Amino acid sequence: MNNLKPSIGKVEEIVFCRFIRKSGWDARLVNSSYTWVERQIVHRPKVAPWQAVVRDSLLDLGVAPFNGFTYDHVYGTKFGGTIFDRFGRRNTAAELLATADPLKLTVLVHATVQKVLFDMSGKRPKAAGVLFRDENGNLHQAFLSDSQRSEIILSCGAIGTPQMLLLSGIGPRNELEEKKISAVVHNEFVGAGMADNPMNTIFVPFKKPVEQSLIQTVGITKMGVYIEASSGFGQSNDSIQCHHGIMSAEIGQLSTLPPKQRTPEAIQAYIKRKKDIPHEAFKGGFILEKIANPISTGQLRLINTNVEDNPSVTFNYFKHPRDLQRCVDGIRMATKMVQSEHFTNFTQCDKQTTDKILNISVSANVNLVPKHTNDNKSLEQFCKDTVITIWHYHGGCHVGKVVSRDQKVLGVDRLRIVDGSVFDESPGTNPQATVMMMGRYMGLKILRDRLGKQLVFRG
Ligand SMILES: Cc1cc2nc3c(=O)[nH]c(=O)nc-3n(C[C@H](O)[C@H](O)[C@H](O)COP(=O)(O)OP(=O)(O)OC[C@H]3O[C@@H](n4cnc5c(N)ncnc54)[C@H](O)[C@@H]3O)c2cc1C
Repeated sequence: MNNLKPSIGKVEEIVFCRFIRKSGWDARLVNSSYTWVERQIVHRPKVAPWQAVVRDSLLDLGVAPFNGFTYDHVYGTKFGGTIFDRFGRRNTAAELLATADPLKLTVLVHATVQKVLFDMSGKRPKAAGVLFRDENGNLHQAFLSDSQRSEIILSCGAIGTPQMLLLSGIGPRNELEEKKISAVVHNEFVGAGMADNPMNTIFVPFKKPVEQSLIQTVGITKMGVYIEASSGFGQSNDSIQCHHGIMSAEIGQLSTLPPKQRTPEAIQAYIKRKKDIPHEAFKGGFILEKIANPISTGQLRLINTNVEDNPSVTFNYFKHPRDLQRCVDGIRMATKMVQSEHFTNFTQCDKQTTDKILNISVSANVNLVPKHTNDNKSLEQFCKDTVITIWHYHGGCHVGKVVSRDQKVLGVDRLRIVDGSVFDESPGTNPQATVMMMGRYMGLKILRDRLGKQLVFRG
């Protein structure tokens, strides 16, 4: 994981402000919560030469101004923060626990929650505890204390949390009935409005080894597309693991094809394509373009009642023509970047035709989507056939539909959600900074509500 952003020093300027305004969040507390996360685990990257080339090319194409190194989400080109320190060590959200009071915290690292348990004896259902399985497969129940202040906070992520609500009896009545789950509350919006930001990549061949780099440069364009780049051709080996584009495809390939289309033939075609990836595909870089705020959305449904099994999720990539058009615009820009002198001077490759660039980008792509012969002629077809995930999926428990503005689950007491499932847009160019900020923000807010509003929290 790289490229942690955005801090929102300039609150009025960023798109994500819509979410903050709609949720009625305290902008100052939001900003200090970002800073709190940044101070502990975010670093300034040592910019790799290839990333400087990406910057220069973006600026030439008008993705300006150059905003330097910043966490702010502002139009133009910038270098973002990273969770890798100068020794190459990755910092994670788990490190934020260092600021917790260990005497008040018990962490069960191998506990898998099966469902939330409810007390149905009152007027409104009240979360009472959870049923969880330990690493030896044994089931346990954990209950809240009787204190008014006790509550359960679900943070299972954009896929895990809607799934958990459904398994616990909160969701569309017909879906619960179909899976023979006792209904606690009917809510047709659980699992609705799932979105993922479609990503497409353009392959950049290199003649010489270049320093490996994850995403550092970001182009935040006014056409609703973010442009980033990674390179994987290390000095010593060309391991597939190093390669963001290919790795993305490896991990993301299943999610880009709706479950019903995952036929044995499609899987065989995928395996064959993987074998046929040209060797050069491991010796180069990728330019990634990701659609900001996709209009196309989908839904999450349970396949069965086993929490260990993934639910079925459909994102409907590019269903809305505006999403497709934005991909086309992004790919056009990425192709021009590869053809620019900045790139050809750096890669020492001849300027390639658009046809050739698209062709090799299709062959380096390993998602399960069947390819078409006109992938290098129609940018629309190219976008549809080479779409992969950048794992920025979100939604399923939107504010106002599944949770209240303070993220309490509607229709029940003592249950709150704090994770990316409440977003109706993926914040910034990459979401993890905001998810972590949300954790800090909600923690402080809960304390503030408990202890009195006069309490002031600094940093
Ligand atoms: C491979 C990959 C690379 C990424 N790279 C970047 C990046 O470079 N920059 C960036 O900003 N974002 C990146 N992201 C996205 C980012 O990680 C997510 O947006 C973010 O982690 C979402 O946070 P969350 O709290 O909503 O969910 P998660 O981080 O997914 O947390 C949910 C947690 O709940 C646990 N859980 C789920 N169900 C249960 C259960 N039943 N019982 C117990 N525990 C459960 C899961 O194991 C998980 O630990 C990446 C994601 C992936 C997958």
